[in-house]
Amino acid sequence: MTEKTCPVAELIQKLEQTLASGQLHDAKNYRRSEEILALLNDVAWGRAGREHVPAIRQLAEEMRREDAADAGEKTGGHILNCLEEAAEIFQSHIDTHNCATGECVRLAPAPCQMTCPAGIDVPTYVSLIGEGRDAEAIEVIRQDNPFPWVCGLVCTRPCEFMCVRGRIDTPVSIKFLKAFAAERALSWGQYKNPPKAPDKEQSVCIIGAGPGGMSAAYYLALKGYRVRVIEAQPNAGGMILLGIPRYRLPREVIDREVAMLQDLGVEFAFNTRLGSDVTLDDLRQEGFDAFLLAIGAHKAYTLGIPGENDFPQVLDAVGFLREVALGNRAVPGKKVVVIGGGNVAIDAARTSLRLGAESVVLAYRRTRHEMPADEEEVEQAEEEGVEMRFLTIPEAIVGQDGHFEGLRCLRAELVAQEGSDRMRPVPVKGSEFVMEADALIPAIGQQVDTAGVKDLPGLDWTRRSTIHTNMVSMETSLPGVFAVGDAVTGPATVIEAIGAGKRAAEGIDRYFHGIPQPKLPPVPVRRGRIDCKRLTANQKMTARRPEMPLLNIDRRRTTFQQVELGYAETDVRDEAGRCLRCDICLRCGKCVEICRDKMGVNALEMGYFDFDHPVETDFRMTAERCILCGACAANCPTGAMRIEDCDGERVLSLCGTVLNHEALTECALCGKQMEPFRYLEYVRKRTRGIGPLVDNRPVCDACGRTAAARTMQPEQ
Ligand SMILES: Cc1cc2nc3c(=O)[nH]c(=O)nc-3n(C[C@H](O)[C@H](O)[C@H](O)COP(=O)(O)OP(=O)(O)OC[C@H]3O[C@@H](n4cnc5c(N)ncnc54)[C@H](O)[C@@H]3O)c2cc1C
Repeated sequence: MTEKTCPVAELIQKLEQTLASGQLHDAKNYRRSEEILALLNDVAWGRAGREHVPAIRQLAEEMRREDAADAGEKTGGHILNCLEEAAEIFQSHIDTHNCATGECVRLAPAPCQMTCPAGIDVPTYVSLIGEGRDAEAIEVIRQDNPFPWVCGLVCTRPCEFMCVRGRIDTPVSIKFLKAFAAERALSWGQYKNPPKAPDKEQSVCIIGAGPGGMSAAYYLALKGYRVRVIEAQPNAGGMILLGIPRYRLPREVIDREVAMLQDLGVEFAFNTRLGSDVTLDDLRQEGFDAFLLAIGAHKAYTLGIPGENDFPQVLDAVGFLREVALGNRAVPGKKVVVIGGGNVAIDAARTSLRLGAESVVLAYRRTRHEMPADEEEVEQAEEEGVEMRFLTIPEAIVGQDGHFEGLRCLRAELVAQEGSDRMRPVPVKGSEFVMEADALIPAIGQQVDTAGVKDLPGLDWTRRSTIHTNMVSMETSLPGVFAVGDAVTGPATVIEAIGAGKRAAEGIDRYFHGIPQPKLPPVPVRRGRIDCKRLTANQKMTARRPEMPLLNIDRRRTTFQQVELGYAETDVRDEAGRCLRCDICLRCGKCVEICRDKMGVNALEMGYFDFDHPVETDFRMTAERCILCGACAANCPTGAMRIEDCDGERVLSLCGTVLNHEALTECALCGKQMEPFRYLEYVRKRTRGIGPLVDNRPVCDACGRTAAARTMQPEQ
């Protein structure tokens, strides 16, 4: 079985084949298989309860026991094996109505949720925000991510890259909606911790107060464990505090979300470094039962060029940003050169400007197109005055007698590499030039600082010097020792560390209970089912993602005030309304097919359904052609497309967006409500005028019959 196949869907298919093949000639076995199939379909369609799996098991056991000369024994055995091997997946279909592969169509999570490393139920919280239910939205988010405000400001937002709305115009601004809701819930005193489970005996020590360690701390504390976080620095936050500058993520945001953990009883021991201040053995002796290594990746890579270690003016980016975060705001130099093309380089460049550098040049080996930094961050850096020099390769530090002068570089050209999409920069001979500078900040990546942990006996490391773990349970090679975040993946993102922290909390809980660790990663859980907002097709199509208001440029160059000022409330509510509700509409395309191929109407222009045959999407077009027959709704597997008669109208809607509506007609004779005029016309055309008319006026079937019968009465 591959990871991409849903065992529930696979078993249904297999059983259908067995039933059709005639291999089950024993009547009892045949009936049992039919019953199992019905129960499995309940599981696949989200109708199953706790009794379903035991009932399937019992029937399968009966089949296996039955001494019939057919395939019953084999089939029963196969079903039992499936239930055993994929117990968790069956359970997730039943408990959370979730099929991670999407094969059980009604239970497929939306792409935004599937792609989120923490599996947050995006459509549910976005819908809640759309309704002004910010505190409830935060409750939904915190079931998978304890830091919605932090992530609302700095998440790399993989959800937005997968957002289906992006195929129509631009993705929903999911990240900023989250920041708005978190800020609102906190300022209105509605940002609350959920209730904790009763206290448990065991205690966990977490090493590192970054997002990975703190996320695990939060979920472990909720499960009732005593949790202590030891942290080498004087404050909690890890790279979100020590790396990400304050103009992107104000300190208050971190402090307020960390305070929520302290409210839950999580203890913090600051200025305590594992390896120098305390050892794992000390902590074991103190009585901790499990450990989580969440030490991040804080050691900068060096350029490996001559002169790099000879001048104090050569700073490493993470060290420089850490000093600034801890309050040392000395300007690195009048002329600063930063080397690198990622977010860390951009942060170092923009921070240098704010500290008072007169010129900041960012030198990168490739072109703008290849820069890994966030596009918006690059644009903001340029607006603030950071100069970009592309195709520039550092060759040596230039200086004499301890006096730093700058950086000798070579021009580069990009050449294609075999087996890679990425172009390789190659130095151009004789193109040397010197960039004068007072300070040089290489920002070319980080690795795990292994000091104090590398020699833990029995702890396995990867070739990249990251901690080797099982990526589902986050267990290391040492029993009772788990690891998460950048220390495992190498430098990555906040949301990845948070997702891993939550998995580790689950892994540690299972370890304490002696429950085997899961084999497959957890499926994202649907946290609610919120009704769709009623909007007109015009509203849905014309709404545009709002521009983010930014701090004025002079203040941006001189202060660490937050640059992105946040959306106004009306923009937030409207923006949430742009969501296409992919938790309900799975874009299977059945509605489009039926309307076009079976009805011959072709009223649904939904190009975003189909990557391979892109046509434009326009919900407004439907009203021009649709006859309100309801074939699309009748064939929609998830109830996304609906047709309803209300207030004298027939309304067709897709996830709340009204695609078409028309008044119902009345029978000219008895006044009974009938189909809309357009539909009746369509039927009359298709039946070549057989539809009931009296005096050229439409009448209902009953009146039509009566009128026809009267015309047939024998003459007196
Ligand atoms: C400048 C910069 C900007 C970034 N911007 C973004 C961004 O915009 N969006 C995004 O998603 N990601 C961003 N990242 C990446 C993100 O910050 C990290 O991926 C994330 O913080 C990793 O979390 P973590 O918990 O694994 O480790 P960290 O956040 O690094 O936390 C590890 C903690 O462990 C402590 N520690 C280390 N060793 C020990 C020890 N021996 N004993 C005790 N404590 C120890 C450290 O002091 C630190 O507090 C950025 C990173 C940098 C450097």
